[in-house]
Amino acid sequence: MSTLIDGKAQATRLREEIGRQVSRLRQHELVTPGLAVILVGEDPASQVYVRNKATQAREAGMSSFEYRLADSVPQTKLLDLIERLNRDPEVHGILVQLPLPPQVDESRVIQAIHPDKDIDGFHPINVGNIATGGHGMAPCTPLGCLMLLKHQLGDLSGKHAVVLGRSNIVGKPMASLLLQKHCTVTVAHSRTRQLEEVCCQADILVAAAGRTRLVKGDWIKPGATVIDVGINRIEADGRMRLVGDVDFDSAREVAGALTPVPGGVGPMTIACLLLNTLEATCRQHRIPFPD
Ligand code: NDP
Repeated sequence: MSTLIDGKAQATRLREEIGRQVSRLRQHELVTPGLAVILVGEDPASQVYVRNKATQAREAGMSSFEYRLADSVPQTKLLDLIERLNRDPEVHGILVQLPLPPQVDESRVIQAIHPDKDIDGFHPINVGNIATGGHGMAPCTPLGCLMLLKHQLGDLSGKHAVVLGRSNIVGKPMASLLLQKHCTVTVAHSRTRQLEEVCCQADILVAAAGRTRLVKGDWIKPGATVIDVGINRIEADGRMRLVGDVDFDSAREVAGALTPVPGGVGPMTIACLLLNTLEATCRQHRIPFPD
């Protein structure tokens, strides 16, 4: 039986530490980190994510600013709002909840956010800095996965990591971060041949394909560490349930350690958003960022 990696508990500890740092900043530097979250439209899942982010930011002692725009909002109005927030000294981090409606060009919106306030780490400048091993803002989900892996395994150097998925928000930045930690990285995707054999070589397997229970126990090398990023909604016994990209029951027999869904990567993602907001605040005020 594998060890369960408790992302919920680790995220709680991280948020508590962030809360302590925020209170130190408020007391000694008279600075309150501010997070602005923009939601366009009424997508129910996005509404829940935005509410959770705002609540957790407030609980950590940050200021939270929420902007809800109609699904039909013209792109120029959204860009104007971002420009205003870029200039607002009380806002240190700006997040635009994705996906956006079709009249809005996602990449233009991402590029409109000042890179110093881009706490999602999607701006090309931050992407480039992470890819070249420089000091950039890393996207929250892969950053959270990396923290779970470091906590579980310590030094990642020389391990073979297989990242299943090559999206800009999870797979690619995950691969960059693992490379920075000296892993040998294979990125697999929907065109990868003999996917099962590729996965079987992994000391570290990060599954981010968005396919319900794609990874079975016999795709996993005995003792491997498995991080399940997937969030898939299925109906079971008349109720909606969240399941990952990994077939939890069969994987648990083989893996050395495994994240559950829910309670694994998800809570770490929001905690890392707060961490990035704290880091952005420190950088904007030229305050050393605590390790
Ligand atoms: P995308 O749909 O953008 O990317 C999925 C990737 O998986 C693509 O690269 C795709 O390949 C690959 N893929 C799809 N099907 C297969 C398959 N059968 N075999 C091999 N590769 C496959 O998804 P995201 O990266 O945005 O998200 C991935 C999952 O993570 C989703 O379930 C999402 O809900 C979840 N997620 C969870 C978060 C959290 O906080 N826990 C945060 C963000 C996402 P190709 O490029 O060839 O199409």
